[in-house]
Amino acid sequence: MSMNFDLECKNIVKKFDSFTAVNDVSFSIPKGSFFSILGPSGCGKTTLLRMIAGFNNPDSGDIQIKGKSVLNVAPNKRPVNMVFQHLALFPMMNVAENIAYGLRRNGMVKSDIDVKVQEALERIGLPDAGSKRVDQLSGGQKQRIAIARCMVLNPDVLLLDEPLGALDLKLREHMKVELKQLQAQFDTTFVYITHDQSEALVMSDQIAVMNHGVFEQVGSPQELYYNPQTAFVAGFVGDSNRWHGRVVDLDATSVKVETESGLQMSALSVGSALKKGDDVDIFVRPESISISVGKDGNVSDENKLTGKLTNILFNGADSRCLIETETGEEISVNMPQTGDFNDLQRGTDVTVSWRQDVAKCFSHCADLDEEQ
Ligand code: ATP
Repeated sequence: MSMNFDLECKNIVKKFDSFTAVNDVSFSIPKGSFFSILGPSGCGKTTLLRMIAGFNNPDSGDIQIKGKSVLNVAPNKRPVNMVFQHLALFPMMNVAENIAYGLRRNGMVKSDIDVKVQEALERIGLPDAGSKRVDQLSGGQKQRIAIARCMVLNPDVLLLDEPLGALDLKLREHMKVELKQLQAQFDTTFVYITHDQSEALVMSDQIAVMNHGVFEQVGSPQELYYNPQTAFVAGFVGDSNRWHGRVVDLDATSVKVETESGLQMSALSVGSALKKGDDVDIFVRPESISISVGKDGNVSDENKLTGKLTNILFNGADSRCLIETETGEEISVNMPQTGDFNDLQRGTDVTVSWRQDVAKCFSHCADLDEEQ
């Protein structure tokens, strides 16, 4: 069974004195996957990655690579390699020497090294870059060289610690796609840690959302986006409108909530069983809300508010409309560029509405208050 997984972590706990940085984390990564660990700063991502690499040991639990425990295996003997944010390419060596570094240290003969290095350069789309100096490369090229330098060693698992963090925004957007392609090219499991949900959504087969040392949810990008199981996941993955309130009524699947600002909303209850009086958060995605012009509100949706359009942010394929409700709240709505609403102007009176089943209600998550 275990042999189907490149990496398995079982009940990993890591404490620093009395502080628990990683708290009973278990997961299994199928062969050849792109797996991201996504969470805010300080949630324990790096600590977990360092244990997989062998720089730290867990206080309890087991780490297995291809079905074998690596707890007693030194970092340089583990079938893993790590790419850091600051890529640590050697500036005094050319590109080929950088890629060859680990192979030379392992004692491979020069003619074999040359073949491996050239193969790697071709795989990363830089067949002629071998003799270049590192400072002649762009940021994206350096990134690819850093990955090639690890991949020539044939690791079972490549660990990547926020490798795009040091790049400018445009290059980061480009590298998201490229990293995913490289992972498929090498057909090796990548474990990628990031606090950037958009990176994780674009690249990953599976994402683990981590908070306070625990995995809140593990799933595909689509599962996390459409079926978050906790308020933290709903708030951290993708954009949402969020209301904080109390449950005033409920049945088996839905709840009525009174928000802090006195609005009544109905939503699906998700995750732990809720009861009357519970402190909750409701999330509605901007693309799940409809706008109609005027205050008549002639819509059948369960949730309906009136307000004024305060801004329209053009975003290419769609526009983000900001609406201030009569109760003084700001709501974001995404509208496709269909032309239906071309005459919407700032200051227009509008009705916004959404169905109960696109509004998800969870136990309140205080961490999301801190973020705002
Ligand atoms: P970031 O994205 O900011 O790197 P992270 O999610 O990677 O954050 P970690 O670096 O794993 O978080 O740290 C998790 C928690 O453990 C933090 O509160 C950190 O202060 C603490 N921590 C990490 N290493 C040590 C250490 N050697 N001694 C004491 N506390 C530590």
